[in-house]
Amino acid sequence: MAWDFSTEPEFQEQLDWVATFCEEEVEPLELVFPYAVRMRDPKMKALVDPLKAKVKEHGLWAIFLDKELGGPGYGQLKLALLNEVIGRYGIAPSIFGCQAPDTGNMEILAAYGTDEQKKRWLEPLLDQEIFSAYSMTEPQGGSDPNLFKTTAVRDGEEWVINGEKWFTSAGRIADIIFVMCTNGIFIVPRDTPGVEIQDYPRTHDHIIYRDVRVPLDHLLGPEDGAKVLAQRRLGGGRIHHAMRSIAQCTRAFDMMCERALSRESHGKVISEHQMVQSAIADSYAEINMLRLLVLWTAWTIDNSSTQEARTQIAACKYTAAKVLREVSYRAIHIFGSLGVTNLTPLQAMWAGSPTMSVMDGVDEVHKVTVARNVLKGYAPHEGLWPTEYLPAKRAKARAKFADAMAADPDLEKYAEFMARRVDGH
Ligand SMILES: Cc1cc2nc3c(=O)[nH]c(=O)nc-3n(C[C@H](O)[C@H](O)[C@H](O)COP(=O)(O)OP(=O)(O)OC[C@H]3O[C@@H](n4cnc5c(N)ncnc54)[C@H](O)[C@@H]3O)c2cc1C
Repeated sequence: MAWDFSTEPEFQEQLDWVATFCEEEVEPLELVFPYAVRMRDPKMKALVDPLKAKVKEHGLWAIFLDKELGGPGYGQLKLALLNEVIGRYGIAPSIFGCQAPDTGNMEILAAYGTDEQKKRWLEPLLDQEIFSAYSMTEPQGGSDPNLFKTTAVRDGEEWVINGEKWFTSAGRIADIIFVMCTNGIFIVPRDTPGVEIQDYPRTHDHIIYRDVRVPLDHLLGPEDGAKVLAQRRLGGGRIHHAMRSIAQCTRAFDMMCERALSRESHGKVISEHQMVQSAIADSYAEINMLRLLVLWTAWTIDNSSTQEARTQIAACKYTAAKVLREVSYRAIHIFGSLGVTNLTPLQAMWAGSPTMSVMDGVDEVHKVTVARNVLKGYAPHEGLWPTEYLPAKRAKARAKFADAMAADPDLEKYAEFMARRVDGH
């Protein structure tokens, strides 16, 4: 029987270790030094590096990468189970070597980079000696590649890049930026002359690339391969975000349940009020629906490919945002006035749900993908009536009993009588 919801005991032990490690080591670091993971200050590194070393000792570093790409090759299902734990803590992905946008960039470097490119950029990225960013979205065209204008023109032994990009996460602190041009993806060191990072926004950067010159070997993958590489990059990213959002939903749910049992109002503990119970019951069911969708998708990727699972990945993307929005809202509500402050993580979770709906392509685009792909499995009905039009189906079914009715007229009478009863109209 292959339909199995259990986790193998050895991996469960790893997950238990991760849960304890995050609670005892990662969360305290996050609460006191929330930006330490991306800082190069030796004092901060002295706090962060020992945690990374422990992760490496447990063989859990960069587990998103397949074996042939240089990772441990756990696959997406195990990654999903791990992300369900580490997704509770904002800095944990950095401690486990699986922080976006570096993960997606490493994936395409591993898959499409030359040996020289891997040595130069993949190894230091894997070791977090350098950081990267991904510049795709454009201010006039959002994430629709057909509207992109940023181009690279060959000039002798160099590419000359001109264009404008919007919302490049961590662009201003990255060492290298993967720039999606109309004719390919190029790796641009951030300090290259002509990389002009605008003052705003501060975290997701607006960057003008003005006559930026990079050597020919900074093109990643084939010329004109931008869309293929971008798809590969984003497919993985979307499912990983969905995995981590299960952790966020579960955290909000845990908080909601604890509070419901702790607070009294109008003569009883609020968990005994039916509308609070309804919020808990709906949240429980929605989180588990999301979880099963994500795990099934991860399993499908492991057993086929990201491409094969693209309809499921798209469904995970907008469902994760929706469940996070609903569950975190209910939790805030159950927390009352405390919920609307920033004294608990709930406000940030709720505010994160529209972000999830927009990033990695807006929900609408993914819903279109799902609807289009699903509809490929259907055809219009012939004639006026749908396939499930009951009078037509019943008439056809009567043929099955024609001989029996001919042999026994009572059966015919029963059929007529029952038809009149069900044909209320
Ligand atoms: C937190 C975060 C991090 C990000 N990081 C990066 C990054 O590192 N690098 C990068 O390049 N980009 C990044 N982005 C940008 C992201 O890819 C874009 O925000 C996203 O693709 C949408 O583009 P847009 O913001 O221009 O919205 P628009 O494309 O302007 O969409 C706005 C609205 O228009 C409607 N709409 C748009 N298209 C359609 C459609 N096809 N069908 C129906 N309705 C539609 C929807 O209601 C949509 O919400 C990030 C975004 C966020 C929020």
